[in-house]
Amino acid sequence: MSMLKVAIVGSGPAGCYVAERLGRKAKGAVEIDVFDRLPTPFGLVRAGVAPDHQTTKAAARVMAKAMEKPEVRFFGNVEIGRDLTLDALRAAYDAVVLAVGAPEDRGLDIPGADLPGVVGSGAFTRWINDHPDAADRGGDLAQARRAIVIGAGNVAIDAARLLAKTAAEVEDSDLSPDVASALQGAPLEEIAIVGRRGAAHLKFTPTELLELGDLAEASLRIDPADAEQDPEATDNPQGYAALKELAGRPVEAKRLTLSLRFNLQPEECIAGADGRVASVRFRRTRSEGDRTVATNETVELPADLVIACIGYRTRTPDGVAADGGRLANEEGRIAPGLYVVGWAKRGPSGTIGVNRAEAHAVADRLLDETPADDRPGRAAVAERLETAGAESVDWSGWSRIDAAETARAEPGRVRRKFADRGEMIAAARGA
Ligand SMILES: Cc1cc2nc3c(=O)[nH]c(=O)nc-3n(C[C@H](O)[C@H](O)[C@H](O)COP(=O)(O)OP(=O)(O)OC[C@H]3O[C@@H](n4cnc5c(N)ncnc54)[C@H](O)[C@@H]3O)c2cc1C
Repeated sequence: MSMLKVAIVGSGPAGCYVAERLGRKAKGAVEIDVFDRLPTPFGLVRAGVAPDHQTTKAAARVMAKAMEKPEVRFFGNVEIGRDLTLDALRAAYDAVVLAVGAPEDRGLDIPGADLPGVVGSGAFTRWINDHPDAADRGGDLAQARRAIVIGAGNVAIDAARLLAKTAAEVEDSDLSPDVASALQGAPLEEIAIVGRRGAAHLKFTPTELLELGDLAEASLRIDPADAEQDPEATDNPQGYAALKELAGRPVEAKRLTLSLRFNLQPEECIAGADGRVASVRFRRTRSEGDRTVATNETVELPADLVIACIGYRTRTPDGVAADGGRLANEEGRIAPGLYVVGWAKRGPSGTIGVNRAEAHAVADRLLDETPADDRPGRAAVAERLETAGAESVDWSGWSRIDAAETARAEPGRVRRKFADRGEMIAAARGA
C-alpha cells in the first residue's frame, strides 16, 4: 500500500488541526509535511493573540501534540512562493492544503491613512508579539497622548488594553522588555475605541469587554445612550449585555480615560504641523434596523496615534484566484488536490477553536477524494531545499528555540521571544 503524501502550508491553528485530523484518521498510511515561512510554528497564536492572554496562547500545546506525531514533519523557515513554488509542491505531494492565514492589514482607505502615527492592527500586533517581520513601533508611541483605535472587535480591545495596562498588569505575559517599556512609557491620557456601527452591532466578546472595566489606571467611559438601545436590535446579546453592565458602573478618576464610542465612520486622518497625524474626522452614522447610514454631522477627535483594527486579507499564491480577502474555494477545495483552510478559506473572522471543526471537515474531504499516487513527497522536497541552501528548521530545532526563549525570560515573564530570524535559527542549531 503506498503512503498518502500531504503538504500543509502554514502551521497556525488551521494547519495544525488539519495535521491532527489526517494523523488520527489515516494513522500509519499518511506522510504529512507542514511548511511555515517562520522558523517558529503556531501562526497567530504566537504572533497575534495578545501577550497578556497566556491562557489563550496555551492552545499551542494542543497544536504541538498534533505536530509531534510520527507521521508529521515540520519544515520551518521555508516559504512557499520563495523557497519552493506551489507548483513544485503540488507535483511532489498527492494533496496540498493552504493554511496561510490572512496577514495583510485591510487598509483604512481614507485620505491621510498613510500619515506617520497611523498604523494597521497587523503591524501593531506583530510588533507587540516580536514577529520577525515587524517594524519597531516605539517611535509612534513616544509622543502619543491621545490614541484612537478604530474597530469594534476583540483586536481593537487587545490594542487598547495593552496601551492602558501598567507594568504590574503585564506580569506573566511574554511582552519583551523593549515593547513593554515603549507601551508603558507612552504619555497616554486618552484612548478611544471607535466603531462605525451602533453599539448594538458591537463584535466584542463579553469576557474581553468586561476586562476593560477592571484596568488599574484606566477609567472606562460609555455614553449612557449607547447602553439603552433596543436589546432586540443586537446580533451579539452577550456582548451587548456586558456593555450595559459596564455602563452602569460608577466612573472612577484614574490616570487615563478609555472610552467606547459608536456610530462614527472615519473620513480623514488630518496631519499636524509636524506632519504626523493630529486628529481624525469622523462622520456620525445612525442605525436604521440592520443598516448603518451616514448623517450630515461630522466630529473631529484629536489623536497622535491611530490604530486601525478593521480586518485583514490573505496573500494570494501564484496561480490561485482571490475572492475578496480570501482564496476562492468551494467548501475548502480550490482545485483537485489543492485545498484551503482557516482564515485563508473563509476570511479573517473566527476564534482559534472555530478553525478546528472546519479544518477537520476539509481534512475528511481530502481523505475521501485523494488517492495515494506514489508521489516523491518529503524526500524530493528535502533534497531540493538542501540543494538550494535553504536553512529549514525541524521540530527539534523549534524545541531548542522554545527552550532558549523560556530560559532567557526575565523574572515574572513566561518567555522572552527572539524577534530576529537569525537569532531564531542560531537557537534552533543549538548555538
Ligand atoms: C491580533 C489578533 C488577536 C487574536 N486573538 C485571538 C484570541 O485571543 N483568541 C482566539 O480564539 N482567536 C484570536 N485570534 C484569531 C486566531 O488567531 C485565528 O482564528 C487563527 O490564528 C487563524 O488561523 P490560521 O491557521 O488560518 O492562520 P494563522 O494563524 O495566521 O497561520 C498562518 C500561518 O501560515 C504561515 N504562512 C503564511 N504564508 C506562508 C507561505 N507562503 N509559506 C509558508 N508559510 C506561510 C504563517 O507564517 C502562519 O504561521 C486573533 C487574531 C488576531 C489577528
